[in-house]
Amino acid sequence: MKVARFEPWRCSKCGYQMDAASSAFEDALPELGDVSVCLNCAELYILNLGNYWRPITDDELIAMPLEEKKKVSYVQWTIRKFQKDRRR
Ligand SMILES: [Zn+2]
Repeated sequence: MKVARFEPWRCSKCGYQMDAASSAFEDALPELGDVSVCLNCAELYILNLGNYWRPITDDELIAMPLEEKKKVSYVQWTIRKFQKDRRR
């Protein structure tokens, strides 16, 4: 699995600090416009010009191709399930 390092950023929803991203489905590095998910709360981010992650907008979410939405939803479900199971 390829891992890309970034300047540390905090999730705008939960404050979780991240400094890396990797693809959940292929051996590829993140590219401009790719979507990432907070590992703590599953908030969505998009890789912006300048190589930093910012929260995805509603318009970008609506415009996302269906196949990508399915993959993102699966990753969000997995993170939420993991966090829920961890609290038990
Ligand atoms: Zn978060």
